[in-house]
Amino acid sequence: MLRHMAATVARQARPVDILAGTNRGGPLPVVMEAIATAVAGGLLGGGVGWLAAPWLGIAMGAVGAANGAVSGARRIYRWRRRQGWVAFALDSTWGQVGILGALAIHAANRVRADAEYRPDCSYRQNRHIYVRGFRLRRTYAFTLGNVITNATGGGTRLRPRFLERHETLHIWQSRLFGPLFPTGYVVWGAGGALVAAVVWLFNRKESLADLVTTATYYDNPFEYWAYVNDGHWPHPDANALLRWPRPAEQSPEDAAARRHDRADGCTPPE
Ligand SMILES: [Zn+2]
Repeated sequence: MLRHMAATVARQARPVDILAGTNRGGPLPVVMEAIATAVAGGLLGGGVGWLAAPWLGIAMGAVGAANGAVSGARRIYRWRRRQGWVAFALDSTWGQVGILGALAIHAANRVRADAEYRPDCSYRQNRHIYVRGFRLRRTYAFTLGNVITNATGGGTRLRPRFLERHETLHIWQSRLFGPLFPTGYVVWGAGGALVAAVVWLFNRKESLADLVTTATYYDNPFEYWAYVNDGHWPHPDANALLRWPRPAEQSPEDAAARRHDRADGCTPPE
């Protein structure tokens, strides 16, 4: 009984229908969009890959088709804006290294019953958002390709502004930098660990773990860019010895918007 009541309260507590507007027109347009996006993604990825080598054409065709099927069925691309076409074209070609990871997260999150896909934060927003699901660290959202997983970072509510300014920026970094994006993380990580170790040798009172996290993660140019963009620099966990200097002050409106960034969901466009 108690459990039933709790479930009823949980259902009622969500004021917005998270499917509102995202399944307009019934199943037929959804299936059509999935097929069309899969075929287009397969041809685009396959065609570009084939220019380099036939095997690459087959591999990239498969990844492009798989992303097209998932992203088409969930109708993430915003075809009415140029940005939606650019997102689709990059996801099908240059950004495929990230998309490969995104497909793995879709598969992993299918197995996890609590992953909770959020159509209201994904539909026509050129991204996929899962509330929970696969994660590297419990309190951190994680982005790979066009997927944001563990989006609440272990919290109870989504933060639309943070998702837009930080994690969605990572999606576009991945699209624009392509294979250089993950390579950058690895190379920066190795160099950062070395720098942190040397700094620690001369500052033995500091925590080595904090220095390594700061140099490898927070100071990574892609992360620094995202933290500055979401008005969250310097991050309180970044070690003051190694973190990049503080950027220009935020406007009071911006700071207030960041403090009040708590919502039950997103507002899909259209
Ligand atoms: Zn980040």
